[in-house]
Amino acid sequence: MTRSEEWFERAQKVLPGGVNSPVRAFRAVGGRPRFIVKGLGSHVLDEDGLEYIDYVGSWGPMVLGHSHPDILKAVYDRMVCGLSFGAPTALEVEMAEKMIGMVPHIEMVRMVNSGTEAVMSAVRLARGATGRDKLIKFEGCYHGHSDAMLVGAGSGALTQGEPDSRGVTRGAAQDTLMAQYNDLASVERLLDANPNQVAAVIVEPVAANMGVVPPKDGFLQGLRRLCDKHGSLLIFDEVITGFRLAAGGAQEYFGVRADLVTFGKIIGGGMPVGAYAGSRALMEQVAPCGPVYQAGTLSGNPVAMAAGLAQLTILADHPEVYTVMETGARYIANHLRESAKRHGVALQVNQIGSLLCPYFTEQPVDCFAAAQESNTKLYAKYFNEMLLRGVYLAPSQFEAMFVSSAHTQNDLACTVQAVEESIAALA
Ligand SMILES: *Cc1c(COP(=O)(O)O)cnc(C)c1O
Repeated sequence: MTRSEEWFERAQKVLPGGVNSPVRAFRAVGGRPRFIVKGLGSHVLDEDGLEYIDYVGSWGPMVLGHSHPDILKAVYDRMVCGLSFGAPTALEVEMAEKMIGMVPHIEMVRMVNSGTEAVMSAVRLARGATGRDKLIKFEGCYHGHSDAMLVGAGSGALTQGEPDSRGVTRGAAQDTLMAQYNDLASVERLLDANPNQVAAVIVEPVAANMGVVPPKDGFLQGLRRLCDKHGSLLIFDEVITGFRLAAGGAQEYFGVRADLVTFGKIIGGGMPVGAYAGSRALMEQVAPCGPVYQAGTLSGNPVAMAAGLAQLTILADHPEVYTVMETGARYIANHLRESAKRHGVALQVNQIGSLLCPYFTEQPVDCFAAAQESNTKLYAKYFNEMLLRGVYLAPSQFEAMFVSSAHTQNDLACTVQAVEESIAALA
C-alpha cells in the first residue's frame, strides 16, 4: 500500500467517505485520492513523495499558485498579532476597498466564510429587498450546499422545484425554479408563469460546475433585460469567475451589470473566505443597517483577510497575469483538440480565460444536457492516464481545469506531452 492509501484507509474510519468534501474521494474516476503534503507554485507533493503539476488549485483559489511568498508573508505577519478578535480590524476595510476598486458596480461588501454562505446570504438579501420568495437557478449551476440551492427540476418545475438531496425539505426547495443555461426562453417562461414572485435569477456567468460552459452571446445581457422587465434582481455567482476571468470578474469581462455578486475561493487566497456585494441601497438592507439578518463569528477574520488582500493586491497590480493564464489555457486546449483529432477520439474542449474542460463527445457542449452526453468513463480513463504522468486534474468530468499564473512553459510542455500520450491510450 502507498502512504496515500494507508491514510485513506484511516480516513474512511473517521471521515464520511474519507473526505471533508465529496469530490475529493475520487469516486467519479476510480482509484484512491492522493494525500497532499505541500504545494509550491504550480506543483503539489503527495505523501508518497510523488510530485504533480496541479490543475485543481484548491478548486480555484490558488490563481497565483501555491505558497506564493507575498501571501505567506502577509499571513505570517498578521498571524503573530493574534488569530481572531470578533471586533473590527483595519484589514476588513482595506479588503472591501480593494474589492470595490477592482469590481464594477459594487459599492459595499459583507465578508463571510465560504461561497455557500455568500450565496445563502445574498439570496436572503434578494428576498428581503424585493419582498418576493421565489428564485430562478439553472440546471447544472452549483451555488454551494444551502437548502434552497440543492434543488432539481421536478415534474412541476414551472411552478416549484424538488429537493436534490435527502434532508432538504419540500418547503425549502419549492421556491427554487429551474431554468436551462444558455436558454433565455426557459427563463422567460418561468418569469411569466410566476408574475411578481421571483426575487432573483442566480447564475454562474460562466458555468464552471458542469465542466466549463461559457454563456452564449447575449445570454447574460438577456438575463439583465428580463430581470429589469420583471422587477427581479440578477445575482452573479462569481465564486469561481470573480478575479479569475478578469480583475473585475464576469461583470467586467462581459460588460453586464449584476445587482448582487457572490465571491469565494480566490478572495481568500487559500483561506476560507466568501463575500457578497452590491449597491449601497441593497447592501444597507443587511443588519445592522437593515432588516435582513446575517452574522458571523469568524467573518472578516484578520488572517484570512491578510491572505485574500495580498492575493487581490497582486492581481490588481499585475494585470498581465490574466493574459499569461489565458495563453496557457488556450495552449492546452489546442493540444487536447489536436491530440484527439490525431487519435480519432471524439472530444469537445471548452475554454474561456484560465478555465477549460475536455468533454468526450461529438456535439458542442453549451448546456447541462449536452455536458451530460460526455463519456464519463473515458474521462475517468483520461484522468488516470494523466495522473500516472504526473498531471493532477479534477477527479470529475464536471469540474474545470484551472490554469494558474504559476504554470511555467515547462509545466505546459510536460502537460501537453502527457495529453498526447493519454489521449493515445484512449484510442
Ligand atoms: C465552489 C462554489 C460555491 C460554494 O463555495 P464553497 O466555498 O465551497 O462553499 C458556490 N458557487 C460556485 C459557483 C462555486 O464554484
